[in-house]
Amino acid sequence: MVLIMKKLSLLAYAPSLCAALLMTFEMSAIAQATPAAKQTHGKKAMSQTVDPLAVHQSAIVVDTHADTPQRFVDENWNFTDPLNGGMLNYDSARKGNLAAQFFSIWVDPGQYPAKESAHRTLSLIDGTLEQVRKAPDKLQLCLTSDDIITAHKSGRFAVLMGIEGGHSIENDLGLLRDFYRLGVRYMTLTWSNTNDWADSSGDINDTTITHHNGLTPFGKQVVQEMNRLGMMVDISHVSDKTFWDVIATTRAPVIASHSSARALTQAPRNLTDEMLQAVAKNDGVVMVNFFPAFIDESWRLAWAAQGPERKKALDALAAEYKAKGLPVPYTASDRIDREFAAKIGRAPFNSLIDHFDHVIKVAGIDHVGIGTDFDGIPVPPDGIDSAADLPKITAALMARGYTADDMKKLLGGNLLRVFRAVQLAADKSK
Ligand SMILES: [Zn+2]
Repeated sequence: MVLIMKKLSLLAYAPSLCAALLMTFEMSAIAQATPAAKQTHGKKAMSQTVDPLAVHQSAIVVDTHADTPQRFVDENWNFTDPLNGGMLNYDSARKGNLAAQFFSIWVDPGQYPAKESAHRTLSLIDGTLEQVRKAPDKLQLCLTSDDIITAHKSGRFAVLMGIEGGHSIENDLGLLRDFYRLGVRYMTLTWSNTNDWADSSGDINDTTITHHNGLTPFGKQVVQEMNRLGMMVDISHVSDKTFWDVIATTRAPVIASHSSARALTQAPRNLTDEMLQAVAKNDGVVMVNFFPAFIDESWRLAWAAQGPERKKALDALAAEYKAKGLPVPYTASDRIDREFAAKIGRAPFNSLIDHFDHVIKVAGIDHVGIGTDFDGIPVPPDGIDSAADLPKITAALMARGYTADDMKKLLGGNLLRVFRAVQLAADKSK
């Protein structure tokens, strides 16, 4: 989830054979368009003889962030239904060879009072678990790295859950443990809102908000309890000081489930090079976010320039629903965000690839992955309309010289390693 924004309309799919041919054509077009890049990675010349589509198809592809659960709960939409305006469903996942999805359990603090956060969290967990119950032949709830591998072998799509925003636990470690028991395997310590125990990058410059200079003593206890449980600590969205407090507190690797690089795009919730290096030292993983405002500086500036006008439209919508005593439905605010995003147009596909490249150069190939933010952003970059387009990323990075082994790490291997390490660290502490 970015701020108050969501999914996008989709192109109709060609029959699968045509789609595959189209994909092959597009991939070779990408490869031909960037021949110079190969020369900058001389040691990786092997990629020229390897078919990127075959590499992509043979990998276990994991995405750590999609905001789809609101569709399950608020729209009565099922994961096995046609996309119908979304960016991720069962069919698009299959077409893009996506093996596993961490579904974001996100409670909008602007729509749900603090003391209703846990209830809404439970509704979103229920909505996600219900998807597995309704389609057990296609979907499998996964609680470990090994579960993902087992699901993949049996041909089932791996469903996982991560909470986005520590406000979900309502300052109660018991609730944190309950969410773990229900299957939640990561928690982003904050969303765009600072909570009672951790500062967020989203409001760090807002003087009307009480800040804590990073994590409070209770915030450190939350991190320690997550370590003990084997729940991945997610540093996406947190303020810089919170990030460094987490690095000093955690005794397990951390993840950034959906964050990009600040050196390329100045969004305050992107990670600086020092942070990327710190995650590498911690043996964690940074999963690159696809939102144009986080991966393309001119798109970010255009989006920021629209801010006041967009806020006015969203405030008017909120007032309309407040008068009815209802929370603003996801589809309504998303419609406004999409209208504004459409005025800017699509960000270049290569801006996304540049972020992967940068994270690899700074943190290393063992510390990068995919955190799309599908269904949480108003529009992905050009060329990416749904999960079915994920093979284009493999093609583009291999055209820049990355090898099949590099891609297997980036596409899912790194996340599987970190997830396993976090759970092993938990076992040791019992
Ligand atoms: Zn988010």
